[in-house]
Amino acid sequence: MRCDACPRDAVIDQPYRGAHLCSAHFSASVWERVRREMHRQLPRFRGGTVAVALSGGKDSAVALATAVRYFARRPNVRLVAISVDEGIAGYRPATLRAAAALTGRLGVEHVIVRASAALGVSTDEGVGRLPGTVPCSFCGVWRRQLLNRAARDVGADVLVLGFNLDDLAQTVLMNLARADLGRLARMAPHRDRAPGLVPRIAPLAQVPEREVYLYARLSELPFDHGECPHASAAARNVFREVVWRLEEEIPGTRHALLRTQAALADLLRTGSDAGPARCVDCGEPATGERCRACDYLRLARNPLMGAARS
Ligand code: SF4
Ligand SMILES: [Zn+2]
Ligand SMILES: [Zn+2]
Repeated sequence: MRCDACPRDAVIDQPYRGAHLCSAHFSASVWERVRREMHRQLPRFRGGTVAVALSGGKDSAVALATAVRYFARRPNVRLVAISVDEGIAGYRPATLRAAAALTGRLGVEHVIVRASAALGVSTDEGVGRLPGTVPCSFCGVWRRQLLNRAARDVGADVLVLGFNLDDLAQTVLMNLARADLGRLARMAPHRDRAPGLVPRIAPLAQVPEREVYLYARLSELPFDHGECPHASAAARNVFREVVWRLEEEIPGTRHALLRTQAALADLLRTGSDAGPARCVDCGEPATGERCRACDYLRLARNPLMGAARS
């Protein structure tokens, strides 16, 4: 198959837009989508500190490398990569090494936050103390809070996340299936700054997962291919499968799910501008009396509470 834009061989097809591209035109098309999203999600950004969540996997590697390129001619922008070490044996150490290799190569400041030090519990310990709870539920909540705290600590004006088109389409469907309109409305990209929360953006929103992978490979970015040992229990796996099937049958479904989220978020935002309350335990932003990170921490510190509740 030939590239649609030149005589070279195509390296990828894009069924959602009926295109085939060679490596050079493919890389250019990814960069153009990321550049446009960055511009759209971060309008009127005059300079400041941009934090990038860096797990060491392909998505965050591409998010960091493209952020470096985007802000290359802006001396008034400071980039800081933030990695969270949740404490997952056999997985996280290798991803942190990849993250360090990338920040070293790109010359980006790198901050690592360890859950065991910041929260007093690691994800692996949480698995032992919260039997019957899907690890991703507390791990994801703790990581989000640690990322937000670290981004705030470095004075970040915005936090860049490496969510790709597939990730976001899955999250839209998960929130819809759970009737969780609050979370649907709070998905990145954030336009407003809520007290205590660093606004999050997702510049890879228009790039499918396999294209992020190919772009990372073609750009020779160091990233780790490992998979978290707790990932198989994640509810997201079902939604990944469903979105994949839908996209196969009806190309463009992922983009449509994102447009659905954007339209609903606009409707839901009206009249609910009060912003989040503060957690009574830790003072971080919360949607209820206590934040979800502290809900899980209380259970992890005293598993009997969980037993009594269930
Ligand atoms: S897959 Fe789940 S448990 Fe593993 S790092 Fe991600 S959120 Fe945490
Ligand atoms: Zn070409
Ligand atoms: Zn809290």
